[in-house]
Amino acid sequence: MNAAEQPTTPQSTARPVDVSATDAPSLDAVVVGAGLAGLYQLHRLRGLGLRTRVFEAGADVGGTWYWNSYPGARCDIESMSYSFSFSPQLDQEWVWSEKYATQPEILRYLHHVADRFDLRRDITLNTRVIRAVYDEERHYWLLATDTGESVTSRFLVMASGCSSTVKEPEFPGADTFAGPVLHTARWPHEKTDFTGRRVAVIGTGSSGVQAIPLIAEQAAELTVFQRTPAYALPAHNRPLTAAEVAEWKAGYPEFRAAQRRSKGGSVCEMPTRSALEVSEEERTAAYEAAWQEGLLSAILRSYTDILVNAEANETVAAFIRSKIAGIVADPATAERLSPRGFPFGTKRPCLDTGYYATYNKSHVTLVDLRETPIEEITPKGLRTADGREHLVDVIVHATGFDSVTGSLLAPDIVGKGGVTLREKWADGPVNQLGLVSAGFPNLFTVTGPLSPSVLTNMVVSIEQHVEWITDCIAQLLSSGVTEIDATPEAEAAWTAHVAELAAGTLYPAADSWYLGANVPGKPRVFLAYVGGADRYREACDASARNGYTGFTLSRPSA
Ligand code: NAP
Repeated sequence: MNAAEQPTTPQSTARPVDVSATDAPSLDAVVVGAGLAGLYQLHRLRGLGLRTRVFEAGADVGGTWYWNSYPGARCDIESMSYSFSFSPQLDQEWVWSEKYATQPEILRYLHHVADRFDLRRDITLNTRVIRAVYDEERHYWLLATDTGESVTSRFLVMASGCSSTVKEPEFPGADTFAGPVLHTARWPHEKTDFTGRRVAVIGTGSSGVQAIPLIAEQAAELTVFQRTPAYALPAHNRPLTAAEVAEWKAGYPEFRAAQRRSKGGSVCEMPTRSALEVSEEERTAAYEAAWQEGLLSAILRSYTDILVNAEANETVAAFIRSKIAGIVADPATAERLSPRGFPFGTKRPCLDTGYYATYNKSHVTLVDLRETPIEEITPKGLRTADGREHLVDVIVHATGFDSVTGSLLAPDIVGKGGVTLREKWADGPVNQLGLVSAGFPNLFTVTGPLSPSVLTNMVVSIEQHVEWITDCIAQLLSSGVTEIDATPEAEAAWTAHVAELAAGTLYPAADSWYLGANVPGKPRVFLAYVGGADRYREACDASARNGYTGFTLSRPSA
C-alpha cells in the first residue's frame, strides 16, 4: 500500500489549503457514491488536505460494479483502457486477465484501489444522502442521511453514477408472483443457481444481452420477453497473454496521454470518408473487419456519417441484420431479433458473447412484446395479450435505469430560494458545462447530464471531471472564495448548445434512455454532450483558465 502517493495528473496544480474559517461547516466536502468517481474524488480531495467524507448506499465500494453482479456482467470497453490512469504505479501493478474484465474482476480492482489509497476510513457504507439544503448565508450544504446522521459541508460532489437508479417495470399483478423476482442491477451477492428452473428475462439491452446466454446454460427453460431488439456485436472476448499485458504496460504513458486527448476516451483512428462514397463491397468488407474486431466502437467509426446520416446508418443496420439471420437458425426468431425502425448506435449498442446463438437452443423461447405485450404478472408467471400464461419459477428484470438524472433527483436537493433540483429540472437538466446548475452553488456533478459521460469511456470522463472539480475547489479556497455558482445566462447557452449538437445527429430518432424515453413521464431531453470529450475538456479548461467564465465566485459577506 502507498497511501501517501499523490496524484500524478498532468494538469493538476492543486495544493493543500487551509479552510479553517469562522462559521465553518463540519466537513469541507461530501461525496455521494463510492464507485469509480467517488473513490477517485475522495483520493484527490484528500490530496488537498480537505476533510472529506463519502456516503455510499451499498454495503461495499464499487458503485455500478458492486450492484450489477448478474451472470455475464462484464465491461464492454477493453479492461486495459477501462481503468484509472492517475497513478502510473497502479497501472503497472494491476494485471487484467481478459480483454473484457468480468464484474467480479473489476470489483476486485476497485477494492484494491480503495485499500491501496487507504480510502475506506472516510467512506460510510449502507448510508444514503436523502436531503441536502443549501445555507445561502454560510455558503455550505446541510445534509441528512437515511441513517439519521446530519453533517454540514462546504462542497457537495454528486458522484452517484449514471446507471444507479433502477427502473422496475410496473406490470399489474407484479406483487402476486410466487417465485423470486430479480433485477440485474440489484443482483443478490450470494450465488444464484437456475438449474432446473423455468426463468423469464424481461429486457434485451446490454444487461439482458449479457445475462441471457449464461442463464440459458443453467435454466431448464428460458423465456425472453423482448420489447425492442438490440443491435449486438460480438465481443470476441479472450484471456490476455502475458506478452500483450507487458506491451500495454510499456506503452501506458503514451496511451493514457492519448486517451485524455481523444474524442471518446478510447484511442483509435478516426474515419475520413462517408459510408456512401464507397462501393457496397468495400463497405461490407469494412463492416466485416469491424465485426471481427470485437469493439463497441469499431463499426461506428468505420465511416464519418454513421450517426448523422440515416442512409449511411442503414448500411450498418442492414449488415447487422444479415449477421443475425446468419446465426439464428429459425427465420421467424431471427426476424424478431432484428432491430428495425431506429438507427444503429442511437440506443447504446451491446457487446455480446453467444447472445444470438442462444436462441438456437431448444429450451430458449423469444416472446415479442410488440406482438403480444405483457398484460399482467400472475402467481405462476406472465400473461401476454394473446391470453397465454407463460409459467415460470423466476422472473429476471433486465429493464435498466432512470439513467443519468435519476440518482441526482432521488434525494431532496434544495438550493437557493428554497427551489428544489427536481423543480428546476422539471423540463430537463440545465447546467453550466455539465458541472454546476445555477441556484445550487458548491454542488458539482461527476459525469452528470450535459457532459460527454455515457457516450465515452466513463473512467476517462470521470477523471476529467474529478480533476477539474479538485482544481476548482483548490483555486476557490486558496483565494478565499466560499461559493461558486453557475450564471443563468451561461447555463442557458450551454444547455441550448448541447441540445443543438444532439439535434444535428440521428440520436433523437430512437426512444432511448439517452433521451429519458424509457421512463414514463421523464422529459425528452438528450442527456449527453455529443461534441466529443476532447472539445468538452477544452471548454472546461478554458473556463477555468479565464477565471471560471460562466460561473460567479463569492466570498463570505462581511
Ligand atoms: P437498457 O439498455 O435500458 O435495456 C432495458 C431493456 O428492458 C430494454 O430492452 C427495454 O426495452 C426493456 N424494458 C424496459 N422496460 C420494459 C417494460 N416495461 N416492458 C418490457 N421491456 C422493458 O438497460 P440495461 O440493459 O440495464 O443497460 C443500461 C445501460 O447500462 C447500457 O446501455 C450501458 O450503458 C450500461 N451497461 C453496460 C454494460 C457493459 O457491458 N459494460 C452492461 C450492462 C449495462 P425498450 O428498449 O423497448 O425500452
